[in-house]
Amino acid sequence: MDITYHMPVKVMMEKGIVIKKHYEFKGFGKKAFIITGKSSSKINGSLEDVEAALDKEGIDYYIFDRVEENPSLETIEDASKIGLEQNVDFIIGVGGGSPIDAAKAIAVMIKNPQLNKDNLITPEKLEALDVIAIPTTSGTGTEVTQYSVLTDHKNKTKRNLGQEVFPKLALLDPKYTEKMDLDTTVSTAIDALSHIIEGYLNRHANDITDALAERGIKIWGECKDDLVSGDIKNTSREKLMIASNIGGMIIAQTGTSLPHGMSYPLTYHKGISHGFAIGSLYKEYLKIFKDRKKVNKIYELLGLESHKEFEELMDKLVKVHIHVTQDEIKKYTDEVWENKEKLANHPEDILYEELFFIYTNSLLYI
Ligand code: NAP
Ligand code: ZN
Repeated sequence: MDITYHMPVKVMMEKGIVIKKHYEFKGFGKKAFIITGKSSSKINGSLEDVEAALDKEGIDYYIFDRVEENPSLETIEDASKIGLEQNVDFIIGVGGGSPIDAAKAIAVMIKNPQLNKDNLITPEKLEALDVIAIPTTSGTGTEVTQYSVLTDHKNKTKRNLGQEVFPKLALLDPKYTEKMDLDTTVSTAIDALSHIIEGYLNRHANDITDALAERGIKIWGECKDDLVSGDIKNTSREKLMIASNIGGMIIAQTGTSLPHGMSYPLTYHKGISHGFAIGSLYKEYLKIFKDRKKVNKIYELLGLESHKEFEELMDKLVKVHIHVTQDEIKKYTDEVWENKEKLANHPEDILYEELFFIYTNSLLYI
């Protein structure tokens, strides 16, 4: 047995937590750099809460609210320049995975001001400013992972920053997700489930991550009827936030696997949201596993009887149709075949043809 489990994030979850636990912001520095998206954090109350908590602590702050979905290296560079000018001491990411991932990359770039968008992704080990994460989606679990997924327009793909930037503190309030539209709710929920499953069906899975995964799948399964009906009760919003957090804790240990790697071209080239891009591949992905023991356990924990029922569930949830040409499928398969990290996480031998068939059977031909 050889297990390493590393989870250095202080996680606190409660309704109203940011205001109630305002003193948690103490000790990070005199000036915060708040990194957020264009509008949702102003609507769901998270930004206002963070500002109020910082005011209570007498901490100055500057807000950068221009993070786009799937944040680009260009945005990271723009924000970092501002952060340096503003002389900020620490970073607070408020929003979905995009602003929080951006916050992590900005924390690295500000600490290493010699870097720019073209050389930020480097094998060299880099330090970062402290990051606090306030997630407002229940999907990525980025508040408890070291990853920062960035869009690299030069290479026309999404890439992991490759540094270990675990937030120091994650404050979770499901209230922020209560008014989220159904598409974002479902897409992010699929992302959360995919992290749990890809960490469960993973070469690096161990007894600790499996324990988290089995509980996480069960909790997610309790929300599936709400996700299908579109009537998402607040109890389900809470459960989805917990499932998302569990998913993050798992992939922080195991990494994600094939569907994540395979989804990046669908998001980059076809503009499909992260969760739906992954979800569109899941029926075929679970079909190719030779060892059915853990796959059947997933269905059981979800409250499903068979792969067919899983297919029916995904058909109800993934409401996107992705049109591709044969050449595109070949190009995407080549790209994933080069992604040695994702292939290595898949616990069984896999053929190029199997990846090709996952795409072929999941997507629609033009
Ligand atoms: P997102 O890209 O952060 O946000 C998607 C949309 O949801 C945006 O329009 C955003 O609006 C909106 N939104 C956010 N919170 C909302 C709320 N509470 N109510 C209503 N709308 C809300 O979505 P995400 O799925 O959370 O993050 C996806 C990104 O995370 C991808 O880049 C993915 O690759 C990455 N990811 C990272 C990890 C990791 O471990 N680091 C893991 C998985 C995925 P605004 O733009 O106005 O804020
Ligand atoms: Zn994901």
